[in-house]
Amino acid sequence: MTLNAKVSAVRNLPDNEGVEVEYTDHLGQHTVRADAAITAVPHPVISRIVPDLPADRRAALSNLDFARMIRHNAQYSERVWETKHGFDGSGVYTDQTATWITNSPPGDFESGVLAAYINEPAATDLWTGPVDDFVPHFLMDDGPGRAVTERLHQELTPIWPGLDPVLNEARVWQVPYYGPVYPPRYVLDGSYALNREPFGRIHFGGDWVYGFGANDAVRRGRDVVDALRP
Ligand SMILES: Cc1cc2nc3c(=O)[nH]c(=O)nc-3n(C[C@H](O)[C@H](O)[C@H](O)COP(=O)(O)OP(=O)(O)OC[C@H]3O[C@@H](n4cnc5c(N)ncnc54)[C@H](O)[C@@H]3O)c2cc1C
Repeated sequence: MTLNAKVSAVRNLPDNEGVEVEYTDHLGQHTVRADAAITAVPHPVISRIVPDLPADRRAALSNLDFARMIRHNAQYSERVWETKHGFDGSGVYTDQTATWITNSPPGDFESGVLAAYINEPAATDLWTGPVDDFVPHFLMDDGPGRAVTERLHQELTPIWPGLDPVLNEARVWQVPYYGPVYPPRYVLDGSYALNREPFGRIHFGGDWVYGFGANDAVRRGRDVVDALRP
């Protein structure tokens, strides 16, 4: 297993002889051959790394949209949402910038953490930094990050009066690919079905093939492994 490696190309070999994968790690660029390849990358990455992908397959992938998200983790000196306002659940939905907020589990601490999820379209509006590098997540720079923290604090205070943020203990994570967005035509025009098909000996895993979330990623992984069983 090679970790921290970036794949740049996945190709079918002639005469159905397997696949070749090019990747780069801290030691440089490498090429490996195998019987088959399973990609499990965000779907916009596939057209970049499978150079021989036919036009209809590229079109089917580009018919699927995706959403970014920003996750804001902030520490508060007192868990007022719990101690003063009786909030005791997995999270709340709001019509503010952060559409979902979840709290750290109850414990013997006075302080606590709120994790706020900023979804689209606000995520793209607030986005800073690279827009097309599909790494799992990266920290927002201090300046814009602080602005997000202050904005969320202003919006959360009326919900839970008495919130006292430890402003230096906030982290703003940008997630370039939160998950797929299915336009209705994506299913009707056959793209959804086509994107499940292997291309030669290259198979496509990842949650986006079926939907969103860890369950769909695992379910898809099982399907691909079943398809490859002799
Ligand atoms: C903040 C947050 C909270 C979430 N909470 C939940 C939850 O509570 N429950 C739930 O079910 N799901 C949750 N999800 C969604 C869940 O994380 C995803 O559905 C799941 O991780 C998808 O798995 P995957 O294997 O398809 O893709 P990912 O886990 O996104 O993995 C794709 C991988 O491809 C790698 N990659 C990209 N390009 C290349 C390249 N060129 N070469 C090599 N590697 C590359 C990326 O680095 C990444 O590691 C959450 C997501 C986020 C961001």
